[in-house]
Amino acid sequence: MAILLDGKATAEKIRKRLAEETKKLPEKPGLAAILVGSNPASKIYVDIKEKTCKEVGIYSERHNLPENTDGKELIALIEGLNAKSSIHGILLQLPLPGHINTQTALDIISPAKDVDGFTSRSVAKLAAGNEDNVPCTPKGIIRLLEEYKIPIASRHAVVVGRSMIVGKPTAAMLLNRNATVTICHSKTPDLGNYTRQADILIVAAGKPKLVTAEMVKQGAAVVDVGINKVDGGIAGDVDFESCKGKAGWISPVPGGVGPMTVAMLLENTLNCYKGIEG
Ligand code: NAD
Repeated sequence: MAILLDGKATAEKIRKRLAEETKKLPEKPGLAAILVGSNPASKIYVDIKEKTCKEVGIYSERHNLPENTDGKELIALIEGLNAKSSIHGILLQLPLPGHINTQTALDIISPAKDVDGFTSRSVAKLAAGNEDNVPCTPKGIIRLLEEYKIPIASRHAVVVGRSMIVGKPTAAMLLNRNATVTICHSKTPDLGNYTRQADILIVAAGKPKLVTAEMVKQGAAVVDVGINKVDGGIAGDVDFESCKGKAGWISPVPGGVGPMTVAMLLENTLNCYKGIEG
């Protein structure tokens, strides 16, 4: 039976440590969240992030902009936040409405305040092996593997999904830790052929129960990133019930990568406060 990669408990430990640290600071670290439009999932995520900030002593402010906000207004807001000394991190919740160029808006965020690691500069730095500003979900995935002392170097890691938010940065972080990395995506024929070779399998496809036991190598570490709305709740991308008997480690949904993502956002905010960005 697989060891549970308990993101809920691990994130709680991290939050406690961060709360201890922020208590000792002369001023509160500050996070500004920008939400454009009324995507219900985005609103839920920002609500959770704000609530968790308060719990660990991080000041948070939210900027709700209407769906029809134009790019220039958004850029003006970000420039104002770049200049605001009480704000150390800026989070631009994605996705943005289609009429706004996402990367142009992200790239206005000051490198020193890039808590999500989505600016072009941070993406390039990660590719070059510098992890000063890495996206929160990949960072949470790696932290979970490290917490459970799962060896990464020289192992074969297979990442299912190639988004800029999860798949690609996770693959880069695994590569930085000397894993041999394979990236699979929606055009990969015979996905199981690859996943069965994985010592570490990260699944971020957004397809409920895409990965079943016969696609998992005996003893592998399986990290399920998926959050899918299904009848009666939320399901991951991995069929947890069938895979738990075969994997060596497995993360649940909920209670796996989700809470780790939020904890990493708080940690990144504190790092920006300390000026760790290089
Ligand atoms: P995305 O839609 O941007 O990317 C999905 C990726 O999966 C694509 O690269 C696509 O090629 C690949 N894919 C789709 N179907 C596939 C298939 N059948 N076989 C192989 N590859 C396939 O999504 P994303 O933003 O990367 O998010 C992925 C999942 O992770 C979603 O369920 C999302 O809700 C979840 N997510 C969770 C967290 C968290 O904190 N737990 C954070 C971000 C995203």
